[in-house]
Amino acid sequence: MGVRVKIKVKNPVVEMDGDEMAKIIWHLIKGKLIEPFLDMDIRYYDLGIKHRDETDDNATVEAANAIKEIGIGVKCATITPNAARVREYNLKQQWKSPNGTIRSILDGTVFRKPIVIKNIPPAVRTWKKPIIIGRHAYGDIYKCAEFVVDTPGRVELVFTPEGGGERAILEIHDFNGRGVAMGMYNTEKSIRSFAKACINYALSEKVDLWFGAKDTISKQYHGFFRDIFAEETEKANERLKDSCIQYRYLLIDDAVAQVMKSEGGMLWACMNYDGDVMSDMVATGFGSLGLMTSVLVSPDGKYEFEAAHGTVVRHYCEHLKGNPTSTNSIASIFAWTGALAKRGELDGTPDVGTFARTLETCVIETVEGGVMTKDLMLIAEPKVEKYALTEEFIDAVAEKLRKMIG
Ligand code: NAP
Ligand code: MG
Repeated sequence: MGVRVKIKVKNPVVEMDGDEMAKIIWHLIKGKLIEPFLDMDIRYYDLGIKHRDETDDNATVEAANAIKEIGIGVKCATITPNAARVREYNLKQQWKSPNGTIRSILDGTVFRKPIVIKNIPPAVRTWKKPIIIGRHAYGDIYKCAEFVVDTPGRVELVFTPEGGGERAILEIHDFNGRGVAMGMYNTEKSIRSFAKACINYALSEKVDLWFGAKDTISKQYHGFFRDIFAEETEKANERLKDSCIQYRYLLIDDAVAQVMKSEGGMLWACMNYDGDVMSDMVATGFGSLGLMTSVLVSPDGKYEFEAAHGTVVRHYCEHLKGNPTSTNSIASIFAWTGALAKRGELDGTPDVGTFARTLETCVIETVEGGVMTKDLMLIAEPKVEKYALTEEFIDAVAEKLRKMIG
């Protein structure tokens, strides 16, 4: 066998390693599907929980800054510690979610996109193309002030202008018994950058952009979002038209109904809570968490790619016991191909993009050929007899890739 000439990747990529079963598949992917084919400068950051703890979480901050500098990152799933994890790993403290830290440094929007494969039918019969969810991950109920009203009394909303001036007071409710109340907010800056990120992503994916809110009821709050989306899409009108991309504003309930009846193929921009809820519905509807990819896009065009699932603890426990596992590596492979395709696009090196698309084709053809992990076997049509183990699936993809690339 001759020595394969590796494809040169012009500029570096930031790699962020992670935890548990996700880390196991990460290293299999890198060793079998990436390194043998690419000559690439990888800036490696270990975001495994132990290393984050040792570096007082500076590893996460450094990785995020590296993405800011270099433009492209690819991340393995990581543990977000809770109290049990602090004990399990004997951590100095309950470190914040790495994804949250990276998101706040890059000021980005997260888009989730399912991978559609012919023999893995979505739960919704009409869905043929991916439904991408863009979630505004700032403010609303996630940054609210709320409390239980215990005794009769009045809840008011008070605005105090900076530097004095008259206070504005709005009555929310006069309680004559127990109840609850909440105050929440958002900022024009954040909503505008969300709208811009959605427009840019719709342009890069060449899909229509939908935005849904409840402006008939919340005329000011939801209306504010609607107006900003209208302004930003108007500003981008020429670019959208050139790419034949339509912008649609819908009432959120209408959006839900239309999405269910559609064949997919749109970017659905959602307010924070809607995006939280709808992304789980769409992910489940498309079959498995192992088929859901996620990309963080910053307003200045930096990208971080990852799988939407976590570290798959249950499978990791089996792995540690020495039992065979069947963990789906597809979303993690697509995190790499997403990063490589974008790198190739930004660098003007089409052969890197071609490699990424070839690897994606190999993954899809492997599943369509009946080789798949257990999560997919359970929903595949036509039925398949047996499932592949974690490594067997990656090996099958690697074999196809070698044949295709020569
Ligand atoms: P998870 O890793 O998403 O897994 C939940 C369940 O979904 C698994 O037990 C498995 O179901 C199924 N699943 C998920 N990914 C799969 C795959 N690739 N192949 C096959 N099945 C898959 O969530 P978790 O186990 O509850 O969370 C573990 C850790 O992940 C937590 O510490 C959390 O903080 C972290 N997390 C990280 C990220 C991130 O870094 N982006 C995101 C979410 C969660 P079965 O058990 O039925 O096989
Ligand atoms: Mg959710």
